Amino acid sequence: MKPIDFHLHRPTTLAEAIALLAEHGDDAKVLAGGQSLLPLLNFRLARPEHVVDLGRLTTLRTTRRTTDGLTLGAMVTYARAEASRAVAEDAPLLAAALPFVAHKPVRARGTVGGSIAHGDPAAELPAVIRALDAVMVAAGPRGVRRIPAAEFFVGNLVTALEVDEILTGIDVARPARGTGAAFTEVGRRQGDFALVGAGAQVTVADGVVVDVRIALTGIAGVPHRATEAETLLTGVPPADLDLDAAADATRAVIAPSGDLHATADYRRDVAGVLLGRVVATAVERATGHAHRAA
Ligand SMILES: Cc1cc2nc3c(=O)[nH]c(=O)nc-3n(C[C@H](O)[C@H](O)[C@H](O)COP(=O)(O)OP(=O)(O)OC[C@H]3O[C@@H](n4cnc5c(N)ncnc54)[C@H](O)[C@@H]3O)c2cc1C
Repeated sequence: MKPIDFHLHRPTTLAEAIALLAEHGDDAKVLAGGQSLLPLLNFRLARPEHVVDLGRLTTLRTTRRTTDGLTLGAMVTYARAEASRAVAEDAPLLAAALPFVAHKPVRARGTVGGSIAHGDPAAELPAVIRALDAVMVAAGPRGVRRIPAAEFFVGNLVTALEVDEILTGIDVARPARGTGAAFTEVGRRQGDFALVGAGAQVTVADGVVVDVRIALTGIAGVPHRATEAETLLTGVPPADLDLDAAADATRAVIAPSGDLHATADYRRDVAGVLLGRVVATAVERATGHAHRAA
Protein backbone atom coordinates (compact mmCIF):
# COMPACT_ATOMS: atom_id res chain seq x y z
CA MET A 1 0.00 0.00 0.00
CA LYS A 2 0.97 3.64 -0.33
CA PRO A 3 0.57 6.34 2.34
CA ILE A 4 -2.24 8.86 2.05
CA ASP A 5 -1.13 12.19 0.58
CA PHE A 6 0.64 14.41 3.09
CA HIS A 7 2.62 17.63 3.12
CA LEU A 8 6.31 16.96 3.76
CA HIS A 9 8.12 19.70 5.68
CA ARG A 10 11.90 19.73 5.93
CA PRO A 11 12.77 22.41 8.50
CA THR A 12 16.39 23.44 8.94
CA THR A 13 16.10 24.72 12.51
CA LEU A 14 14.54 23.33 15.67
CA ALA A 15 12.48 26.52 16.08
CA GLU A 16 11.02 26.02 12.62
CA ALA A 17 10.19 22.38 13.38
CA ILE A 18 8.48 23.34 16.65
CA ALA A 19 6.49 26.08 14.89
CA LEU A 20 5.28 23.51 12.33
CA LEU A 21 4.14 21.14 15.07
CA ALA A 22 2.48 24.01 16.95
CA GLU A 23 0.59 24.94 13.79
CA HIS A 24 -0.48 21.45 12.72
CA GLY A 25 -0.76 19.73 16.11
CA ASP A 26 -2.75 16.49 15.90
CA ASP A 27 -2.49 16.37 12.08
CA ALA A 28 1.32 16.17 12.08
CA LYS A 29 3.89 13.43 12.60
CA VAL A 30 7.61 13.81 13.21
CA LEU A 31 9.86 11.78 10.88
CA ALA A 32 13.28 10.63 12.12
CA GLY A 33 14.85 7.51 10.56
CA GLY A 34 11.47 6.35 9.26
CA GLN A 35 12.07 2.71 10.18
CA SER A 36 8.84 2.54 12.18
CA LEU A 37 6.93 5.51 10.81
CA LEU A 38 7.20 4.62 7.11
CA PRO A 39 5.68 1.14 7.57
CA LEU A 40 2.91 2.77 9.65
CA LEU A 41 2.28 5.29 6.84
CA ASN A 42 2.40 2.62 4.15
CA PHE A 43 -0.13 0.47 5.98
CA ARG A 44 -2.16 3.62 6.65
CA LEU A 45 -2.03 2.92 10.37
CA ALA A 46 -0.83 6.53 10.65
CA ARG A 47 -2.61 9.09 8.45
CA PRO A 48 -1.00 12.47 9.18
CA GLU A 49 -1.69 15.43 6.87
CA HIS A 50 1.75 16.85 7.67
CA VAL A 51 5.07 15.08 8.15
CA VAL A 52 7.89 17.07 9.76
CA ASP A 53 11.24 15.53 8.74
CA LEU A 54 14.00 16.17 11.30
CA GLY A 55 16.70 15.05 8.86
CA ARG A 56 18.13 18.54 8.35
CA LEU A 57 18.46 19.34 12.06
CA THR A 58 22.16 18.59 12.28
CA THR A 59 22.31 19.84 15.88
CA LEU A 60 20.31 16.75 16.90
CA ARG A 61 22.97 14.44 15.44
CA THR A 62 25.72 15.11 17.95
CA THR A 63 26.93 13.09 20.91
CA ARG A 64 28.33 15.33 23.66
CA ARG A 65 30.28 14.37 26.75
CA THR A 66 29.29 16.47 29.74
CA THR A 67 30.73 16.61 33.25
CA ASP A 68 28.14 14.08 34.43
CA GLY A 69 27.89 11.80 31.42
CA LEU A 70 26.63 11.88 27.91
CA THR A 71 24.03 13.79 25.91
CA LEU A 72 22.95 11.85 22.86
CA GLY A 73 21.21 13.85 20.16
CA ALA A 74 17.85 12.34 19.27
CA MET A 75 18.85 12.02 15.58
CA VAL A 76 22.02 10.03 16.28
CA THR A 77 21.58 6.80 14.35
CA TYR A 78 21.99 3.42 16.01
CA ALA A 79 25.03 2.84 13.77
CA ARG A 80 26.68 6.09 14.90
CA ALA A 81 25.99 5.32 18.54
CA GLU A 82 27.34 1.80 18.09
CA ALA A 83 30.60 3.18 16.70
CA SER A 84 30.94 5.87 19.36
CA ARG A 85 33.74 5.56 21.91
CA ALA A 86 31.90 7.97 24.21
CA VAL A 87 28.86 5.66 24.23
CA ALA A 88 31.05 2.60 24.85
CA GLU A 89 32.77 4.28 27.79
CA ASP A 90 29.96 6.33 29.33
CA ALA A 91 26.91 4.21 28.55
CA PRO A 92 28.15 0.60 28.46
CA LEU A 93 24.65 -0.90 28.79
CA LEU A 94 23.44 1.13 25.82
CA ALA A 95 26.53 0.04 23.87
CA ALA A 96 25.86 -3.60 24.75
CA ALA A 97 22.24 -3.37 23.55
CA LEU A 98 22.79 -1.55 20.25
CA PRO A 99 24.05 -4.53 18.18
CA PHE A 100 20.83 -6.38 19.05
CA VAL A 101 18.59 -3.77 17.39
CA ALA A 102 17.23 -5.07 14.08
CA HIS A 103 19.69 -5.42 11.15
CA LYS A 104 22.54 -3.23 9.96
CA PRO A 105 20.46 -1.46 7.27
CA VAL A 106 17.83 -0.54 9.90
CA ARG A 107 20.57 0.57 12.29
CA ALA A 108 22.06 2.78 9.56
CA ARG A 109 18.86 4.86 9.36
CA GLY A 110 16.97 4.31 12.62
CA THR A 111 17.69 6.78 15.38
CA VAL A 112 18.16 6.54 19.12
CA GLY A 113 15.52 9.25 19.62
CA GLY A 114 13.11 7.58 17.20
CA SER A 115 13.24 4.34 19.14
CA ILE A 116 12.66 6.11 22.45
CA ALA A 117 9.89 8.35 21.12
CA HIS A 118 8.21 5.31 19.55
CA GLY A 119 8.24 3.62 22.99
CA ASP A 120 7.95 -0.01 21.90
CA PRO A 121 8.19 -2.26 25.00
CA ALA A 122 9.77 -4.98 22.84
CA ALA A 123 12.56 -2.63 21.71
CA GLU A 124 16.02 -2.68 23.25
CA LEU A 125 16.71 1.03 23.79
CA PRO A 126 13.60 2.07 25.73
CA ALA A 127 14.26 -0.72 28.27
CA VAL A 128 17.93 0.20 28.61
CA ILE A 129 17.12 3.92 28.91
CA ARG A 130 14.56 3.07 31.63
CA ALA A 131 17.10 1.00 33.58
CA LEU A 132 19.73 3.72 33.30
CA ASP A 133 17.33 6.39 34.64
CA ALA A 134 18.19 8.53 31.64
CA VAL A 135 16.49 11.89 31.17
CA MET A 136 14.67 12.75 27.96
CA VAL A 137 14.91 16.37 26.79
CA ALA A 138 11.83 17.55 24.89
CA ALA A 139 11.32 20.89 23.15
CA GLY A 140 7.96 22.36 22.21
CA PRO A 141 6.04 25.61 21.96
CA ARG A 142 5.91 25.86 25.78
CA GLY A 143 9.69 25.51 26.14
CA VAL A 144 12.04 22.69 27.11
CA ARG A 145 11.10 19.85 29.48
CA ARG A 146 13.35 17.25 31.09
CA ILE A 147 11.44 14.01 31.54
CA PRO A 148 12.90 11.20 33.71
CA ALA A 149 12.70 7.74 32.14
CA ALA A 150 10.48 6.51 34.98
CA GLU A 151 7.80 9.00 33.81
CA PHE A 152 8.50 8.87 30.09
CA PHE A 153 7.17 5.43 29.07
CA VAL A 154 3.47 5.56 29.76
CA GLY A 155 2.04 2.56 27.88
CA ASN A 156 2.45 0.38 24.80
CA LEU A 157 3.80 2.84 22.17
CA VAL A 158 2.69 5.73 24.39
CA THR A 159 5.16 8.18 25.91
CA ALA A 160 4.94 11.40 27.90
CA LEU A 161 5.80 13.44 24.77
CA GLU A 162 3.02 15.82 23.71
CA VAL A 163 2.00 15.87 20.02
CA ASP A 164 3.72 19.23 19.53
CA GLU A 165 6.96 18.25 21.28
CA ILE A 166 10.21 17.03 19.76
CA LEU A 167 12.60 14.77 21.63
CA THR A 168 15.90 16.58 21.16
CA GLY A 169 18.27 14.54 23.28
CA ILE A 170 18.82 11.95 25.96
CA ASP A 171 21.03 12.52 29.03
CA VAL A 172 22.73 9.42 30.41
CA ALA A 173 24.72 9.60 33.66
CA ARG A 174 28.32 8.33 33.56
CA PRO A 175 28.71 5.16 35.64
CA ALA A 176 31.38 4.86 38.32
CA ARG A 177 34.63 2.96 37.79
CA GLY A 178 34.21 -0.77 38.25
CA THR A 179 31.11 -0.97 36.06
CA GLY A 180 30.34 -3.71 33.57
CA ALA A 181 27.33 -4.29 31.34
CA ALA A 182 25.79 -6.98 29.17
CA PHE A 183 22.74 -7.51 26.98
CA THR A 184 21.24 -10.60 25.39
CA GLU A 185 17.95 -11.72 23.93
CA VAL A 186 15.99 -14.62 22.49
CA GLY A 187 14.25 -14.19 19.15
CA ARG A 188 12.93 -16.35 16.36
CA ARG A 189 15.44 -15.01 13.82
CA GLN A 190 18.46 -12.78 14.16
CA GLY A 191 17.42 -9.16 13.65
CA ASP A 192 13.75 -9.74 14.49
CA PHE A 193 12.21 -8.02 17.46
CA ALA A 194 13.15 -10.35 20.32
CA LEU A 195 10.60 -12.42 22.23
CA VAL A 196 12.39 -11.44 25.44
CA GLY A 197 15.54 -9.41 26.04
CA ALA A 198 17.57 -8.60 29.14
CA GLY A 199 20.33 -6.13 29.94
CA ALA A 200 22.27 -5.47 33.12
CA GLN A 201 24.73 -2.83 34.27
CA VAL A 202 26.57 -3.64 37.50
CA THR A 203 28.99 -1.51 39.54
CA VAL A 204 31.28 -3.20 42.07
CA ALA A 205 33.16 -1.15 44.67
CA ASP A 206 35.00 -2.22 47.85
CA GLY A 207 34.13 -5.85 47.15
CA VAL A 208 30.35 -5.48 46.91
CA VAL A 209 27.78 -4.72 44.25
CA VAL A 210 26.88 -1.09 44.87
CA ASP A 211 24.66 -0.45 41.87
CA VAL A 212 22.75 -2.78 39.58
CA ARG A 213 20.29 -1.92 36.85
CA ILE A 214 18.34 -4.56 35.01
CA ALA A 215 16.26 -4.01 31.87
CA LEU A 216 13.78 -6.48 30.39
CA THR A 217 12.08 -6.24 27.00
CA GLY A 218 8.98 -7.98 25.70
CA ILE A 219 7.39 -8.86 29.02
CA ALA A 220 5.13 -5.90 29.78
CA GLY A 221 3.29 -3.02 28.13
CA VAL A 222 6.13 -0.68 29.03
CA PRO A 223 9.90 -1.25 29.14
CA HIS A 224 10.50 -3.14 32.36
CA ARG A 225 13.05 -2.51 35.11
CA ALA A 226 13.57 -5.54 37.36
CA THR A 227 13.70 -3.66 40.67
CA GLU A 228 13.03 -6.74 42.85
CA ALA A 229 16.12 -8.46 41.46
CA GLU A 230 18.13 -5.23 41.76
CA THR A 231 17.26 -5.00 45.46
CA LEU A 232 18.28 -8.61 46.11
CA LEU A 233 21.64 -8.17 44.37
CA THR A 234 22.66 -4.80 45.82
CA GLY A 235 25.12 -4.79 48.73
CA VAL A 236 26.23 -8.39 48.08
CA PRO A 237 29.81 -9.49 47.28
CA PRO A 238 29.95 -10.72 43.67
CA ALA A 239 30.84 -14.29 44.73
CA ASP A 240 27.71 -14.47 46.94
CA LEU A 241 25.20 -13.25 44.36
CA ASP A 242 22.18 -15.56 44.23
CA LEU A 243 21.17 -15.18 40.61
CA ASP A 244 18.53 -17.93 40.82
CA ALA A 245 16.77 -16.05 43.61
CA ALA A 246 16.98 -12.83 41.61
CA ALA A 247 15.50 -14.60 38.57
CA ASP A 248 12.69 -16.13 40.64
CA ALA A 249 11.89 -12.78 42.28
CA THR A 250 11.48 -11.30 38.82
CA ARG A 251 9.40 -14.21 37.51
CA ALA A 252 7.08 -13.78 40.51
CA VAL A 253 6.18 -10.18 39.63
CA ILE A 254 6.15 -10.01 35.83
CA ALA A 255 3.00 -10.78 33.88
CA PRO A 256 3.96 -11.19 30.24
CA SER A 257 1.33 -11.87 27.57
CA GLY A 258 1.32 -14.92 25.37
CA ASP A 259 0.90 -14.68 21.61
CA LEU A 260 1.43 -16.62 18.39
CA HIS A 261 5.20 -16.64 18.95
CA ALA A 262 5.56 -17.56 22.64
CA THR A 263 3.38 -18.36 25.62
CA ALA A 264 3.33 -16.16 28.70
CA ASP A 265 4.98 -18.95 30.74
CA TYR A 266 7.79 -19.28 28.20
CA ARG A 267 8.44 -15.53 28.29
CA ARG A 268 8.41 -15.50 32.10
CA ASP A 269 10.83 -18.40 32.33
CA VAL A 270 13.20 -17.05 29.67
CA ALA A 271 13.22 -13.60 31.30
CA GLY A 272 14.62 -15.16 34.48
CA VAL A 273 17.22 -17.19 32.61
CA LEU A 274 18.43 -14.19 30.59
CA LEU A 275 18.48 -12.01 33.70
CA GLY A 276 20.87 -14.43 35.40
CA ARG A 277 23.12 -14.56 32.34
CA VAL A 278 23.43 -10.81 31.82
CA VAL A 279 24.06 -10.09 35.49
CA ALA A 280 26.80 -12.77 35.56
CA THR A 281 28.45 -11.32 32.45
CA ALA A 282 28.13 -7.74 33.70
CA VAL A 283 29.76 -8.73 37.02
CA GLU A 284 32.55 -10.47 35.14
CA ARG A 285 33.15 -7.32 33.07
CA ALA A 286 33.02 -5.11 36.18
CA THR A 287 35.49 -7.20 38.18
CA GLY A 288 37.51 -9.09 35.60
CA HIS A 289 36.48 -12.35 37.32
CA ALA A 290 33.95 -14.92 36.18
CA HIS A 291 30.90 -15.18 38.44
CA ARG A 292 30.47 -18.60 40.07
CA ALA A 293 27.10 -19.71 41.36
CA ALA A 294 26.86 -19.18 45.14
C1 LIG B 1 12.82 -4.86 9.63
C2 LIG B 1 12.83 -4.06 10.90
C3 LIG B 1 13.25 -4.67 12.07
C4 LIG B 1 13.27 -3.94 13.26
N1 LIG B 1 13.71 -4.57 14.40
C5 LIG B 1 13.84 -3.84 15.53
C6 LIG B 1 14.41 -4.40 16.72
O1 LIG B 1 14.82 -5.56 16.76
N2 LIG B 1 14.49 -3.61 17.82
C7 LIG B 1 14.06 -2.30 17.81
O2 LIG B 1 14.18 -1.62 18.82
N3 LIG B 1 13.54 -1.74 16.71
C8 LIG B 1 13.42 -2.47 15.58
N4 LIG B 1 12.89 -1.87 14.47
C9 LIG B 1 12.39 -0.48 14.55
C10 LIG B 1 13.54 0.49 14.38
O3 LIG B 1 14.40 0.36 15.47
C11 LIG B 1 13.10 1.95 14.30
O4 LIG B 1 14.18 2.60 13.75
C12 LIG B 1 12.77 2.70 15.56
O5 LIG B 1 11.73 2.06 16.23
C13 LIG B 1 12.30 4.12 15.26
O6 LIG B 1 13.38 4.93 14.95
P1 LIG B 1 13.34 5.88 13.68
O7 LIG B 1 14.45 6.84 13.83
O8 LIG B 1 13.31 5.06 12.45
O9 LIG B 1 11.96 6.67 13.93
P2 LIG B 1 10.72 6.92 12.97
O10 LIG B 1 10.26 5.65 12.37
O11 LIG B 1 11.00 8.04 12.05
O12 LIG B 1 9.67 7.43 14.06
C14 LIG B 1 9.10 6.53 14.98
C15 LIG B 1 8.06 7.28 15.83
O13 LIG B 1 8.70 8.17 16.74
C16 LIG B 1 8.34 9.53 16.47
N5 LIG B 1 9.58 10.30 16.57
C17 LIG B 1 10.78 9.96 16.01
N6 LIG B 1 11.73 10.82 16.39
C18 LIG B 1 11.13 11.72 17.20
C19 LIG B 1 11.60 12.85 17.91
N7 LIG B 1 12.91 13.21 17.88
N8 LIG B 1 10.72 13.56 18.64
C20 LIG B 1 9.42 13.19 18.69
N9 LIG B 1 8.91 12.12 18.06
C21 LIG B 1 9.76 11.40 17.31
C22 LIG B 1 7.74 9.53 15.07
O14 LIG B 1 6.78 10.56 14.91
C23 LIG B 1 7.10 8.16 15.02
O15 LIG B 1 5.86 8.18 15.68
C24 LIG B 1 12.85 -2.58 13.27
C25 LIG B 1 12.43 -1.96 12.09
C26 LIG B 1 12.42 -2.69 10.91
C27 LIG B 1 11.99 -2.00 9.65
